[in-house]
Amino acid sequence: MINFEKTIKQARILNPLKNFEEDTITFEYRTDPLTGRNTTVIKGMLNYISKFLVSDRDLLNSLVEKTRANCPFCPESVKTKTPMFTQDFLKEGRISVGNAVVIPNLLGHAEQSILVVLSKKHHLKLEDFTPKLIFDGFKGGLSYLGRLVEVEPGICFPVFVFNYLPPAGSSIVHPHMQVLVRDRPFYLVKLLLEKSKIYCESNEPSYWSDLIFREKGEERYLFEDCGVEWLVPFAPLRGLNEVQAIVKGKSSLLELSDEELFGLAEGLSKILKFYHKEGYSSFNAIIVSGPMNKHLDYFDVNLRVISRPGIQALSFTDAWALPYMLWDGEAVEEPELLAEKIREFVKTAV
Ligand SMILES: [Zn+2]
Repeated sequence: MINFEKTIKQARILNPLKNFEEDTITFEYRTDPLTGRNTTVIKGMLNYISKFLVSDRDLLNSLVEKTRANCPFCPESVKTKTPMFTQDFLKEGRISVGNAVVIPNLLGHAEQSILVVLSKKHHLKLEDFTPKLIFDGFKGGLSYLGRLVEVEPGICFPVFVFNYLPPAGSSIVHPHMQVLVRDRPFYLVKLLLEKSKIYCESNEPSYWSDLIFREKGEERYLFEDCGVEWLVPFAPLRGLNEVQAIVKGKSSLLELSDEELFGLAEGLSKILKFYHKEGYSSFNAIIVSGPMNKHLDYFDVNLRVISRPGIQALSFTDAWALPYMLWDGEAVEEPELLAEKIREFVKTAV
């Protein structure tokens, strides 16, 4: 049984912006129904920080131009400046799917760490991430995973990761995603797996199917795309325009059909178009998976995507101490309002 638990708290101040009249600030403490982690929804925060979320166009253009000259991922350099897989792993050295090129990471984040260069273009606006471009990237990543399970079956916990532009932690501007694989899950994946298993012991059939049953057609629900369900989470992890997608009944990335992969790609493309419309240029996304060597009835592959601050001289970051060090969540607007905006956008613009 999923419980959407929230508590309202208020603070009173004399507000200088309102001639020192008494004002009330509202905080909502929301408990994530699976993990129990708190996310505080701060009404009005999105408006307060909105000037930091858009990019300085001249600065962005200058960053794109300066990084283009020595970019290892641009088409003229990708074959001469990027690493190759060892011959015993992959005879061809690199994997190509459409415009996507899969290469090992020069300095990775896990024992198996690869990059998927997504586009021939050095820079893409968020509205230019087409479903086909993302789908080809996913196919490239899966092709690598297929080879990895043959060679190293014990390295079985994969994640797909997007860090797009420096505010999202990327050192290379050129559009790419990463696939990281370890013999042990990343902490969030471990937590989700453990909590999903515990949930399933007293609730059939699974947390993820119960979540979709509760949310479908309700205020935080967005849309279904090729069997993939899209919604805004009740208690976001990070809270800057955070959206979640769930692939029903598939616990590992290797179990996904082409149709489901396209549902993830097309849905992500829609959300990125929405971010672009809001004036954003940078994002992070993750796709988390159960182990590749067995099916788990209690876990579904799922995606999270958030927007990140704009490119500005001030270098504002939303990775402040509260989420980054205290591990608490903070949402800058009510998830229900975000869902309403995205539904409206998807209905009229996509
Ligand atoms: Zn480039």
